[in-house]
Amino acid sequence: MGMRRLLIAGLCTLVLVLAPQGGAGATPHGGGPGGPGYWPDSADHWFCFESNVPSADYPIYQDAFQYLDNVTSMYDSQSSYCGSLTDVIISNTHPIPGCSNCLGMAPCIAKTGFLNLACEQGMEYVDTTNIWIASGGFSGDINVYWFNVIYNARHELGHTAGMGHSTNSPSVHVMAQGFYTDYGNWARWGFRSEDTCHVNEFFGGPACNH
Ligand SMILES: [Zn+2]
Ligand SMILES: [Zn+2]
Repeated sequence: MGMRRLLIAGLCTLVLVLAPQGGAGATPHGGGPGGPGYWPDSADHWFCFESNVPSADYPIYQDAFQYLDNVTSMYDSQSSYCGSLTDVIISNTHPIPGCSNCLGMAPCIAKTGFLNLACEQGMEYVDTTNIWIASGGFSGDINVYWFNVIYNARHELGHTAGMGHSTNSPSVHVMAQGFYTDYGNWARWGFRSEDTCHVNEFFGGPACNH
């Protein structure tokens, strides 16, 4: 995509409980013009946990990073503490700063590079309290709750890898914005091959030609 891929908007990224965000996040190609999502400054993704993330939930996020590693040229490394060089800080926060209705959000907090278009450090917020409420609380389906925790862990991680709310088909994929109950629909859990193609292209892989 040449220069076009540098025109990424520095928007924060959200999945809303109530009103979905308007067209601001729409882009046909996943990562790229119109965001949200931002390009990471390098293919290595160092991550850490804030103390508000229960250690029992660590595997959910570790699996999300492993999945990203498996389907892109990115690779991760867990850091035992959150420092200035950590690329992604995972936080289970309620409410998420600036977005009390969000289920998750992945704002870049330290930009770098040409026109500040790359991200040196970002947050990966997941609000399990809002997910619990959206899932129906104690009268809800616990499978729906856990699915949406996993969904948001992967979705927000996708934003930190440069993926947006892509609108090309297929429409069912983990970068789609929303709250979902069809956890048995496996297509819901994964990135689209087009989205991962653009991530790899950004890090020097073959041109995606779309
Ligand atoms: Zn999003
Ligand atoms: Zn494309």
